[in-house]
Amino acid sequence: LRRVVRHCIEHEPLLLATLAGVAVGVILGTALSFANLSPTALEVIGLPGDLLMRTLKMLVLPLITASVMAGVCALRQSTADMGKVARYTLLYYFSTTMGAVVLGIAIVNIVRPGRGSPFDQLDSGEGSCHAANQKTVASHAASTGQHSPVEAFLGVIKSAFPDNVFAAAVNMNVLGIITVSLLMGAALSSMGPEAVPMITIINIFNDAIGKIVNWVIWTSPIGIASLITTSICKACNLAATLEALGLFILAVLMGLLLWGFIILPAIYYATTRRNPGQVYRGFSQAMATAFGTDSSNATLPITMRCATEGLGCDPRIVQFFLPLGTTVNMNGTALYEAVTVIFIAQAHGVVLGAAGTVIVALTATLAAVGAAGIPSAGLVTMLMVLQAVELEQYASDIAIILAVDWFLDRCRTVVNVLGDSFGTVIIDHHARGWITPAAAAAAAATAAA
Ligand code: ASP
Repeated sequence: LRRVVRHCIEHEPLLLATLAGVAVGVILGTALSFANLSPTALEVIGLPGDLLMRTLKMLVLPLITASVMAGVCALRQSTADMGKVARYTLLYYFSTTMGAVVLGIAIVNIVRPGRGSPFDQLDSGEGSCHAANQKTVASHAASTGQHSPVEAFLGVIKSAFPDNVFAAAVNMNVLGIITVSLLMGAALSSMGPEAVPMITIINIFNDAIGKIVNWVIWTSPIGIASLITTSICKACNLAATLEALGLFILAVLMGLLLWGFIILPAIYYATTRRNPGQVYRGFSQAMATAFGTDSSNATLPITMRCATEGLGCDPRIVQFFLPLGTTVNMNGTALYEAVTVIFIAQAHGVVLGAAGTVIVALTATLAAVGAAGIPSAGLVTMLMVLQAVELEQYASDIAIILAVDWFLDRCRTVVNVLGDSFGTVIIDHHARGWITPAAAAAAAATAAA
């Protein structure tokens, strides 16, 4: 053990510091949750976490814009088959999201966490806490508007084509920003030498953002500790919630663990014949940050750095795959939505049947695509899945689930990030064969120039 610790201190000091941050957060949070801290005290303890979140979010917009443009320019210059990269990327997103949903449905039907109407027990003992959560759900729903699945689908498509670039940027419409950046990159790279200065500026800007990300990363362990401490302190009565929702938590965790740590690595091994262990090692910083920040968007700068620096992925592939994947490819969220909706049905004795289950599978996939990579986004888009199987009268149950969402959300965010991470290395592995050696040499020469 001493050798391992010494090796980590010498070679992976940042990873060690991040894991220490998670541990300090859990211990401090558990200890302080008995102290009944005032809101002001919580705010002071939460300040480093708040600052980390603000800085990461601040970086997301320039990062996505610069990296997607730079990625498309570089891919096209190297005459890599962009169409092929895009096709395989979409195939990966869709098949893994659907796969995660199917796994979730299988597990929730085997474990049956909704037997014995657990919600009734919880409601009696936990009134005030869930009343507060109920308000949160209502305000979330009001701010996003409840949509039918078709409306939600159309909404996702429309948001990918913003009518105002600045509005898209101000409202953090990530999908819209990606489209604009893709188009701009495609246009610049189809122009002649006159576009080269602009492409150079974009590349320099991209590198500068990378530098800032590097600085932020070194301060992240303190922020992560602070975020975890405050969210444990704010959690509702842990013992009562665990008793009533224990089986549900178990089903979700089983699904996430199976997907993230058995099936995804198996897919990776089957498609690349490589050791998945190195992917976990390479992305460990991103996984810890996802757990700490609860947001795959906020983690994006770190995930991209892990892919290029930790695993040596081609930056062109990373810049194309990861910003898009972070927004639309959410394996953990998809699994969670399916498990939760079927759990709510079970808890009220509603039998969904085969048709209902298929609707849950399809709408959970869609809801995961529509969910933004921000904390608790999956809970809000879940209203859509509930509506699709006519369970909207039970939407207030989400208030009870909010009691454990601070924890489950972190776990599914880690799996969301893992899904993107494995996808990047798989596409990167295969794309090397699609870029002809001559084109690769030409790209290297351009980069050197
Ligand atoms: N917090 C998740 C993420 O950022 C989204 C969700 O499922 O709520 O990836």
